[in-house]
Parts: sequence; structure tokens; C-alpha cells
Amino acid sequence: MEILYSSTRGGGEPVRASEAILKGLSADGGLFVPDHIPALDKSIEELAGMTYQQVAYQVMKLYLTDFTEEELKNCIDCAYDAKFDTEVIAPLAEADGAYYLELFHGATIAFKDMALSILPHLMITAARKNQVKNEIVILTATSGDTGKAALAGFADVEGTRIIVFYPKDGVSPVQEKQMVTQKGKNTLVVGIHGNFDDAQTGVKKLFSDSGLAEEMREGGFQFSSANSINIGRLVPQICYYVFAYATLVREGKLAAGEKLNVVVPTGNFGNILAAFYARNMGLPIGRLICASNENKVLYDFFRTGAYDRNREFVLTSSPSMDILISSNLERLIYRIAGDDADKNRELMAALSGAGRYEITEEMRAALADFYGNYATEEETAAEIRRLYESCGYVLDTHTAVASTVYGKYLAETEDGTKTVIASTASPFKFTRSVMNAIDAKYDAMGDFELVDELSRLANVPVPRAIEEIRSAPVVHDVQCQVGQMKDVVRRFLKLEQ
Ligand SMILES: *Cc1c(COP(=O)(O)O)cnc(C)c1O
Repeated sequence: MEILYSSTRGGGEPVRASEAILKGLSADGGLFVPDHIPALDKSIEELAGMTYQQVAYQVMKLYLTDFTEEELKNCIDCAYDAKFDTEVIAPLAEADGAYYLELFHGATIAFKDMALSILPHLMITAARKNQVKNEIVILTATSGDTGKAALAGFADVEGTRIIVFYPKDGVSPVQEKQMVTQKGKNTLVVGIHGNFDDAQTGVKKLFSDSGLAEEMREGGFQFSSANSINIGRLVPQICYYVFAYATLVREGKLAAGEKLNVVVPTGNFGNILAAFYARNMGLPIGRLICASNENKVLYDFFRTGAYDRNREFVLTSSPSMDILISSNLERLIYRIAGDDADKNRELMAALSGAGRYEITEEMRAALADFYGNYATEEETAAEIRRLYESCGYVLDTHTAVASTVYGKYLAETEDGTKTVIASTASPFKFTRSVMNAIDAKYDAMGDFELVDELSRLANVPVPRAIEEIRSAPVVHDVQCQVGQMKDVVRRFLKLEQ
């Protein structure tokens, strides 16, 4: 059955999947949502016999209904190949009674690779299907990991350009080095003087700037988004929850049909929303456990029903979760409002105005499957140390937030349901924070010395992505104020008269 996508804010006509991928964001500022969530049409037993690529096809074909089988399989094969350093693509590691779903084996060693390896292929295929002649300009705000994963995905892809804005003082040194060393003639990396929310709000403004859109058209360009609001990001993320479940069944660790809880370290709410979609497709997921760092807007939201971004922004050791406006939450709000675009629009207007909204009791009742909690900086570091000392398994800071929250959930509920924790980054991406958590003595060491020491401690080879940046030259040094983002874009595309 064909699935069409419409805006969470009710504007415009419903569009096909390929059009939604090209547009990224709806013209009215809303996010595209499928008109219904399709049910898995393969049994768990069948899925348990499949590779990652095969599972991905079974999930994605249900959403991207205007792609042919050949097109979709081609995109999948181009994405999930030797760029990943493990054949299974998303392996599970068992430690201290939980299963860590390692989503960091791609080109940039963070989970964003799971979707951003395939997005460029989906986008080019979508452009071809829709007779798009313009060059596609990917505009992205990043809290660190999206930027590099998008750059790696789109670099030198014919017919595309990519511009990435990141908070100059809000990403880890390794994250920054990864981005500013990015090769590819079609790439631009810009550090802004502001935080991630400033970058994201600035990008959203550019997307809805009709004057700029007109200049772009004249120049032969059109924008699209690689941010997690693009359904071409969301849909590929559903696949690994299905794959993880199927893997546990294949390995005899879970009975087909048995409930499985998932814990997700959350920022923009994309990853956990994908788990929610998987659950609504019929995958036997139990609780959806949403883990936040000290920017605990979501914890407060699940606890009180009020979303309130009016608070101090905290820079933490898990920067990819330092977010006060979780964009993808809008898709959940729309859903629990009963697919009511008017209600959703009203709440989003309150968010952009007063910075706060409150959902109804009825909507809160629809959130019963979610559990939210958070981890402080001290708790996160203690969790890294605890797991290393007890099992020799080294977590990155984001995954450690999730692991901490899982511990709190267990203490509170004594729920014995088997649990998968989404492991969203390699510890090598946040080496200094990770090593300092294990022992303060490491603070004196240099960045790459620490990398080698981590490799020794964790008994894991240094990932290719880190080896590469040891000696790579910096090729991007543009910085700007938030108010100058538009000019930076116009200059890069030579739109200035
Ligand atoms: C992006 C990111 C997250 C947050 O994921 P969302 O989908 O934005 O909630 C968590 N951990 C890491 C390492 C990330 O890169």
C-alpha cells in the first residue's frame, strides 16, 4: 500500500516518500509523517535468518513505497558495505546483563552513520525520480556527530553540495578535527559563535527564507536537509531495532514475541522515535527508556507533561545530547494528539513563542510506554569506570548516560525484561572524557597518546576514522556569527551579485 507523507502542521498536500526526502522539512515548518505506520510483513523467525541489508530492505520498503525494489536494494548495498568495520554492521555486545547495540562501526564511528551512509543514495535516487535538475544543497546544523557523518556521506557526491554549521565551542576536539579536515570540493564547514540550538534555529530560518529560495532557484540550487528531521534519516534508523531483536532471537537469547526494552541516549529524539516506530510496526518492544544528560528537558517532560526550554544550557561530556529543543519530538506530539495538526501547531507555536507548552492528560496517557530519566556528569563518569572495572567493556560518554539511566530504571522498577541499550558512539570519539572517567591520571596525556592507551585498555584496535585524522591537514577555517549564516551560504554558492 502506498504511503504518503504530510506535515505535522497541516500545511501543503501529502507527498510521496521521495519528495519528502528531497524536501527534508515541510514548507510550513512542520515535519513529514507517514499517513500510517506500516506493520512488519515478515515474521520474527524469517527476519532472524536475514543479514542487516536484508532486514533493512524489509523495513524500508514498507515506508519508501515509491522506490522500486532495485532502487532501494541498490541504495542499501551502497550504504552498508566495507565502510563499516564489521560485517554484521550493528553488533550486540553483552555486558553486565544488558545488550549494547553498537551503532558506531561506520565511517565516523557514531550512530549517525547508520542513516547518513544511506541518505545521499536515497536523495540522489529521489532527485532522479522527480526529474530534479537543480544541484541539491544539504544544509545541516550539528552538535558534532551529524556534521561529520553527513560530510562523509555527501563528500564528492555528484549533484550535491553540503554546508555544515557547528557550535564553535560546543563539540569535542576530535569531533571538530574530524569536520575541519573533511575533503571534498562540494563541502563547507562553518563554526558559529553560539550553541547547537542557535545553529539549528538558524538553519531552520534559512530553510523557510523565501527570498533566499528564489535566489537559489535562479542559481540552479535547492536546499535539502540531512538533519534527523528528514524521513530519509528516520526510516533507516528503524532497521537496527528490528535487526537487534532478530539477532537476539537467532542467538537464542530471546524468544520470538518476548518483550524487549530499549534504552536510548537522547538529544534530538530521532533515535528513540525510530524505536517507537518499530514498536508500532509490531516489533515486541516493551518500555522505551529515554536517557538525557544534564540538559534534562525530556526527563521533565515525561515527568510533568510540560516541555520547557527556558533553562540554562549545560555543556556536558556528551555534547551530541546537549539540546534543549528536541526537533523530532514534534512527530510524537502529533501522534499522541491523535494525528491532529492543529493541536500540534498550537503547541509548537507556544514553544517558539514562550518556549514552553503543556500537553493534555489524555496525551500524557498515550506516553505510558515511555520512561525518562537523566544522568549527571559525575554519574556518567562513574558508570564508565564501573563497567570498565567490572567487565573490561569501555563505553563512550553518551552510551554511559543511557547505561546510568538503565540502572536507575532497574532500581526503581525491578523490571526484569531483557534490554538493549543503544550504543551511539565509539569511546574513541570522546577519548579524553572516557579516559578521565577511568582514571584522573590520564588528564596529563596528549590526545593521541590517550587514543593508544584506550586501545590497550579496551583491547580494541584504534578505529580507521581516528587513524585518519592523526595527520590530516585542516582545510576548513570559516567562522561566523549566527546572524551571518545566510551570507556564508550565499558566498559559498556564489549567489552574490
Ligand atoms: C546524535 C547522537 C545522540 C542523540 O540522538 P538523537 O537521535 O538526536 O536523539 C546520542 N549519542 C550520539 C553519540 C549522537 O551522535
